[in-house]
Amino acid sequence: MQTNFSPQQLADPEIQVANDILRSCVHCGMCTATCPTFVTLGDELDSPRGRIYLIKDMLENDRPAAEEEVLHIDRCLSCLSCMTTCPSGVDYMHLVDHARVHIEETYSRPLADRLLRDVLARILPYPRRMRLAMRLASLGKPFAPLFTGDHVLVRRLRAMLDLAPSRLPAAQNLAGTVHSPSGAVKGRVALLAGCAQQAIAPSINTATIALLNRLGVEVVVPQDAGCCGALVHHMGRHDEALAAARANVAAWADDSLDAVLVNTSGCGTVLKDYGFLLRHDELAGQAAKISAKTQDISEYLLKIYEPARPPPDLTVAYHAACSLQHGQKITAAPKTLLRKAGFTVVEPKDPHLCCGSAGTYNIMQPEIASALRRRKLDTLRAKSPDLIAAGNIGCLTQLAGDGVPTIHTVELLDWMAGGAPPPALAAALKPPR
Ligand code: SF4
Ligand code: SF4
Repeated sequence: MQTNFSPQQLADPEIQVANDILRSCVHCGMCTATCPTFVTLGDELDSPRGRIYLIKDMLENDRPAAEEEVLHIDRCLSCLSCMTTCPSGVDYMHLVDHARVHIEETYSRPLADRLLRDVLARILPYPRRMRLAMRLASLGKPFAPLFTGDHVLVRRLRAMLDLAPSRLPAAQNLAGTVHSPSGAVKGRVALLAGCAQQAIAPSINTATIALLNRLGVEVVVPQDAGCCGALVHHMGRHDEALAAARANVAAWADDSLDAVLVNTSGCGTVLKDYGFLLRHDELAGQAAKISAKTQDISEYLLKIYEPARPPPDLTVAYHAACSLQHGQKITAAPKTLLRKAGFTVVEPKDPHLCCGSAGTYNIMQPEIASALRRRKLDTLRAKSPDLIAAGNIGCLTQLAGDGVPTIHTVELLDWMAGGAPPPALAAALKPPR
């Protein structure tokens, strides 16, 4: 694609990156067929190619974002399905990240929108605040049917209440803890404990640590590591995202760590991008090291996992989180591990399509998110599974509540390696033989 940035514009290294990305697009349109928003809405401006044109126009003309660009870029899930499909290797992720920062810096959103985004940015990355918000949402959940208006704020409030769990699990605070195996130590890793995940499903971290310990791996959760920054990063809140990344890079500056493990694939994609995000920072070298050390839990387990129980006679529909399959290009490892653990693994039609979770997307774009959820659940249920497994808390929450238990892959692996059954399975399924 031809671009027309001025030499002055190209002196800005961020514009130079955007220019290189734009020029790599040959506007073939192959990405449109696998873009969930284009598939759902059928509008070229809600396709990757359409968004690339909008971003090009906005940046080349060096003007504030306009309502049309904000509408269509806000509707992008950042699922990165387009990057998997694109034959020209267009780095859409960094282009849309740049566009989001530009929007945040130049566009004045309506008051209700601004307030909600502020509230989400101040609550979701902090487990204690998140827990308090979830407690309030749980109390408000029975009243969700009363929120019937069509105002955008009402629709978003309804979406939040729908997503809230009816009951809160016990609180978990892993900061500053070390978990050693009972036998010989064969490895040492840091675990990103996560923010929202700690509040919604602490059993995922419990199972991760138990499984790693059982396999002889020591797990540390440094005191000062916190949210990965993905939630604010996807809102275009650049400074907050960089602050989160810096804090984590400093917290994991420990050469005795073999890896930084992530069991929330949305966070893993961002950690693997810390090297790029902090490339102009004084922590650039350390950030690149952390990105290189970051592994999804399924990548790490692939080399060492051994089951200890007999096969459970259960069919698992594996839902590939976009951040895992498109963001990190990890497709086989979780399925290989589940099969090794003894599960029968099935996959839905169109596994490349997003379930509509995407961070805060299911709150901010409830109609599109709901359509994608229904489509994904229909294709998963068509395989008659006993349960649905995924490697990302956002997807598990999005797909919950439809009669099929949704369980993190690592909880199933831990169970089959001798651990406790995942709480979501309780009483729902046939016990293992
Ligand atoms: S598939 Fe790649 S090159 Fe083709 S239009 Fe989409 S982003 Fe551009
Ligand atoms: S990231 Fe996903 S929603 Fe956004 S343009 Fe690409 S395929 Fe479409």
